[in-house]
Amino acid sequence: MHPSHRLLQTLHGINGKGYKAYKETKGVYDFADFSLSIDYVQGDPFAVPSHLSIQIPSSQAGFPPELYSNKIRKVALGDFLSRAFQKAIRKTAKGQRGTGHSGLFTIDCGQQEVLERNSLLISADFVEARFGVGLPASGRRILGLEAEQMLFHELPVIVDQALFYKNLPTEQLLEHVQVVEDQEALRKQLAEQGLVAFIANGSTLPRRSGVDDRPLREDAGEIVVPFQSPPQLEVRLNRPHQGPVRGMGIPRGVTLIVGGGFHGKSTILRALERGVYNHVAGDGRELAVTIHSAVKIRAEDGRSVEKVDISPFINNLPHGKNTAPFSTANASGSTSQAANIIEALEVGAKLLLIDEDTSATNFVIRDARMQALVEKKREPITPFVDKVGQLFEDYGTSTILVMGGSGDYFERADRIILLDQYRPSVVTEEAKQIVEVFPTRRKAEGGEKFGELIDRHPLAKSFDPSRGKRDVKIEAKGVQKILFGTTEVDLSALEQLVDVSQTRAIGEAIFYYTEHCASKGLSLKEGLQHLMDQLEENGLDMLTPFKTGNLARPRIFEIAFAINRMRSLRVR
Ligand code: ADP
Ligand code: MG
Repeated sequence: MHPSHRLLQTLHGINGKGYKAYKETKGVYDFADFSLSIDYVQGDPFAVPSHLSIQIPSSQAGFPPELYSNKIRKVALGDFLSRAFQKAIRKTAKGQRGTGHSGLFTIDCGQQEVLERNSLLISADFVEARFGVGLPASGRRILGLEAEQMLFHELPVIVDQALFYKNLPTEQLLEHVQVVEDQEALRKQLAEQGLVAFIANGSTLPRRSGVDDRPLREDAGEIVVPFQSPPQLEVRLNRPHQGPVRGMGIPRGVTLIVGGGFHGKSTILRALERGVYNHVAGDGRELAVTIHSAVKIRAEDGRSVEKVDISPFINNLPHGKNTAPFSTANASGSTSQAANIIEALEVGAKLLLIDEDTSATNFVIRDARMQALVEKKREPITPFVDKVGQLFEDYGTSTILVMGGSGDYFERADRIILLDQYRPSVVTEEAKQIVEVFPTRRKAEGGEKFGELIDRHPLAKSFDPSRGKRDVKIEAKGVQKILFGTTEVDLSALEQLVDVSQTRAIGEAIFYYTEHCASKGLSLKEGLQHLMDQLEENGLDMLTPFKTGNLARPRIFEIAFAINRMRSLRVR
């Protein structure tokens, strides 16, 4: 009798019983090619599907060790296999087999980005896949024979198709791993070359729609203009696998992107925002990379702000309200954008990405006429135009700013890129001549220096994960919202958050922070740096007390920004 027979007997034994009897299936079972572990059993057919995992000895799975010989290759291989697993589910599984989630297999996998996840792990010893199974029932009555079909007939086929090297499209797999590793290598070269971003010639930047992140296709009369660097900014970078590549390198400093409406400015900026992540081959942005510490900044009125020193930008608020530090439960457009910048700097942002489309006008510009009408002592805001240069001089933080609506930035920019029908050219010289011919009458405001940055120390009492009878209840509600205990955290302004599995991981990371950092009185930056070091060393599994398969690695910035948006946050 095969060892998995025990599971078969259990399924037959509980057939027709109440759903709770499925709990008896928990355990580890040997199948012919893999071992199956039933880690967590759902309470009813409508609840989150049960957590199962399978392990295959690496010697059996047969992947050449060079496909997973370093961290980034492991991430890329895991990404490929989780996608292959999902494809195999679609191809093999019958689907709905009863009530609620009955009959469904799910696995966490990526879309356009390649993220570190814990749904598919590879080591020298084994390949492990973690997935969800809707254990089948009719109403609440167990359909044991349907479960048998799923686990004994469908699952082995899925595993066979997705997790054995010999059954996979090996050329495609190799390309996937190489494309990802090449992006990592390009990103490393940015710093060496004094660049903050790179977009290869030939890249496709526009997306299919505002809700579809796949590349725009040339059909139905759509024309896609491939990216081509202006000669002045063209650089050559190397890829370890696919050789040298040419494209536009954006140096450190202040870069302005100008051009008429609908000429592709925001599309470039969005590609730069996403350039902190690696992309799949065919995405169109797989050779568009930005330094890791690039942060999109936008206005976000209504957010709460807890003791952020926004005095570099904002002073003398009405009724003497303090801005060093500044707290509010309801920020304005300009105060929120100021806070977003200071908070990004607090955790190490070295590149700010700002689009006029999502900025507060009075935060980015204040022209000579307005200066004449509303004197400085009656205007709390020092506009970004007076601070963008100092930010680079004093702190080495660069800015790429999309600004089609004001020429007041010309003097401040190290380079100006004009987009005309999606084609970039360098117009720095022309702009500097215009400055000579039409000198701005505006006066610089806000002093000679950017201003001091002060570390904040979150208090442990800010973080209460309990809800009702539960000591810890943390949920992601889609990509843009976390429920941490009873605290709702709105992440809709975090435009570089791309995956709900990152959101889930942020929720868990805040809990880790609560337990291990907040109580120690560390500064936000120290605490999060510690957390990121631990994540690098131990992987995503350290975030949860039990095995999960639906976490993806967030950046330090998005974790910090989530903490900053907790209305319960209190700092020293
Ligand atoms: P802007 O910010 O300058 O107003 P957008 O970046 O929003 O312009 O782009 C306007 C439209 O043009 C969008 O629908 C976008 O998808 C499309 N687009 C952008 N770049 C390209 C390109 N290289 N080829 C084809 N269409 C593009
Ligand atoms: Mg725009």
